[in-house]
Amino acid sequence: MLDVSLSVPSRPARRPARIAILGGGFSGAALAVHLARTGGASVTLVEPDAVGRGVAYAADPAHLLNVPAARMSLYPDVPDDFLVWARARGVAASPTTFLPRALYGAYVSETFGRVAAGTTRVVRARAETVDAGPAGWRIRLADGGTVEADAVVLATGNPPPADPPGLAGIIGSPRYVADPWRRDALAAIGAADAILLVGTGLTALDVLVSLRERGHHGPIRALSRRGLVPLPHLEAGGPPAAAPVTIAPGTSLEGLVRLVHAAGKAAVADGRAWQGVVDGLRAATPTLWAGFTAVERRRFLRHLRPYWEVHRHRAPDVVLGHVRALQAAGALEIVAGRILESAASADGVAVTLRRRGSADLEQVRVAHVINTTGPDTDLARGGGALLRDLLSRGVVLQDADRLGLRTSTDAAALRADGTVHTGLYVLGQARRADLWEHTAVPDLSRGAAALAEHLSALTVAVATP
Ligand SMILES: Cc1cc2nc3c(=O)[nH]c(=O)nc-3n(C[C@H](O)[C@H](O)[C@H](O)COP(=O)(O)OP(=O)(O)OC[C@H]3O[C@@H](n4cnc5c(N)ncnc54)[C@H](O)[C@@H]3O)c2cc1C
Repeated sequence: MLDVSLSVPSRPARRPARIAILGGGFSGAALAVHLARTGGASVTLVEPDAVGRGVAYAADPAHLLNVPAARMSLYPDVPDDFLVWARARGVAASPTTFLPRALYGAYVSETFGRVAAGTTRVVRARAETVDAGPAGWRIRLADGGTVEADAVVLATGNPPPADPPGLAGIIGSPRYVADPWRRDALAAIGAADAILLVGTGLTALDVLVSLRERGHHGPIRALSRRGLVPLPHLEAGGPPAAAPVTIAPGTSLEGLVRLVHAAGKAAVADGRAWQGVVDGLRAATPTLWAGFTAVERRRFLRHLRPYWEVHRHRAPDVVLGHVRALQAAGALEIVAGRILESAASADGVAVTLRRRGSADLEQVRVAHVINTTGPDTDLARGGGALLRDLLSRGVVLQDADRLGLRTSTDAAALRADGTVHTGLYVLGQARRADLWEHTAVPDLSRGAAALAEHLSALTVAVATP
């Protein structure tokens, strides 16, 4: 390997590192923008599709951001950048508006084009393998090409959802939509078809909105283990947000739950919004997560995660209003329960389910089942050919709970033996194993800015004759 190290790039015998970013969704594009801002590095971005979109922002025009406009800036130090960009294009928006996700994709790709395209080489291809050699890293592409780099950033983003338990009998059937983010995923669904959504989180809300846009008016059931639906954001003009709680270092999971629950209750009793308590945990989340024991993490994932998700990853009220209207009209039933088995035939799908708290089995017949469980976190299963290859060769390490790739505090990837790579980094929600919350734009843009600062200081020794 080349000697890649942190040093001042003014010594004549060193040159700036060549950086390859694999994946040009939000995270990869944001990193390229921040690297262009700091300057100096030579950057190649490998992305098979449009830069700056990914599955989230290449969306159906009816899908809204689930974070208000004032918190969606690419630049942590310029929080209203997206808001200003949108207003300059005639979009009526306040800091608390939930703008369309497709508009956000336009903001990211246009900013990339304006700030970084001149200094970033974009390679339209899929990366298949990454190998370390004596002269740096070699990335092999699906089209047969190669890219050489001194530092590589894995930013391959959101894997498609994993098939939920109980659906083995319909995998491969045209009546099962395994990946709702695939283009035309809902094309075969008739306006009056009965639908079963498996998953009741943000992805289910997206699909409900898409079905409405397509004129769907058939009966819908949405099922998850606990039947929990995302809660609303703070309302503009509603009660003021509660103050964040102070958490002592080393607080146990049980202690944290007690504290947060009590603070939320006290806030509501005091006429304040509980959302402030949850939002106040944001900055402390990685430290709290790092401080939990393996047993606490597993307890959290098994019992508390669904509650955390609906309180933390909330939905715009206009979207929840659509859910309430469907429920009031009897067109949508939210079911807490489990699917035991399923079978597809030419005219539909038969599903056997058991409602939470009941011993009875229930037979349900629908025209289509849609998987709305959200991105898979097990990268050995869903992470695509590149991550599967790196995991199988021990080049990178997945955590025991299969939440993501293990990384150092500088975002460097860990090898299977736990040692830290020089020159291989991870950006995006794959860092959840160590940070837990590294999913939404406010966290990802901070991660991209910090990594850009680190990478732009890397230099490489130049061999002299
Ligand atoms: C449906 C959805 C909606 C979301 N909405 C919001 C929101 O409203 N607000 C918010 O703050 N956050 C939201 N998020 C969370 C977060 O902002 C997004 O997940 C964001 O898109 C993450 O960006 P990313 O670049 O890490 O991943 P992705 O957007 O998934 O991008 C990864 C990119 O890598 C490319 N890629 C994959 N494999 C390879 C390979 N082998 N070689 C080269 N390229 C490859 C893909 O083509 C893709 O473009 C949403 C997430 C999802 C899934």
